Order: sequence, then C-alpha cells, then structure tokens
Amino acid sequence: MDEKKYFEAPDVEREIQRVLEKYNDTFYNIRKVGFKAIYRIPERCRGEKVVYGSTSTVSEKMRLFIDADFLIEIWKDGWDASNETQKEALIFHELKHCEMEEKETKKGLKIVMKTVPHHFEGFVDEYEKFGDWRNDLPELNNNEKTGEDENE
Ligand SMILES: [Zn+2]
Repeated sequence: MDEKKYFEAPDVEREIQRVLEKYNDTFYNIRKVGFKAIYRIPERCRGEKVVYGSTSTVSEKMRLFIDADFLIEIWKDGWDASNETQKEALIFHELKHCEMEEKETKKGLKIVMKTVPHHFEGFVDEYEKFGDWRNDLPELNNNEKTGEDENE
C-alpha cells in the first residue's frame, strides 16, 4: 500500500472558524455549515500549478463517516511555509467556494450544499481584501508557485 497521504488538520479547522467569524458579512450564509479540514503530503499538481487547497462537498453517503458538509484539503508544506495573511487568504478563498442553497421542493424546503466556481482566477471580494496574494506565496519546489485549486 502507498504511504499515508492525508492527515488531520485541527489548526486549519481553527483558522476556518476564525475566518468565518472575521468575515461574517461575507460568510453569513454558511456560518452554521460544518467544515472539516485535512492536510495532504506531498503536493498535488494540476497542469503546471501546485494545488494549495481544494474544497469539496461531503456526499450524503460519506456523511455517515464525516460529520461535516464540506471538506477542505490543504497542502501541508505550502501551509507551513505561508504567513498568517496568506493562510487567511487561502481559507477565505476556499470558503468562497462553499455555498448553501435552499430549494423549494414538493416535500418542502430542502437545503443543498454545493461548491461554486471562481469569478476569474479568484473571487472579486478576495481580490479586494487580499490583492494578488498568490504571487507572494513561497516557492517550495520546481512547480509554478501560483496556487490553483479545484472545486468539486
Ligand atoms: Zn479556488
């Protein structure tokens, strides 16, 4: 079997809660949503770019095992080398992918979790708050240093 790749990330989960609170106006809609975070080692690449973080919804099936609505995966070396502002910007970015939608159905109101794509390479309010923060991310390997992620 392959070596273990994923680890628990309680400090990322604390940062998620801190960012949710700090930017309450932005994340008002998802403040009651459950988040779990995991670290990944080593890095994962998408094309030429190394992935600093990615976000996915937890399916109804997987919710039996994971007590959360969204799972945020963070590249551990990238996280450890980032400063406080970069960590905040990364979490802000990942949280912007998360959306809760109330849908009217025949059986009544149904709450649906989903991830949303970028406005461009990021989100408008992310750029307003943090500028082009990805440009200053530390260079840790031969990959292009700009982080790019996916939302599944
Ligand atoms: Zn993204």
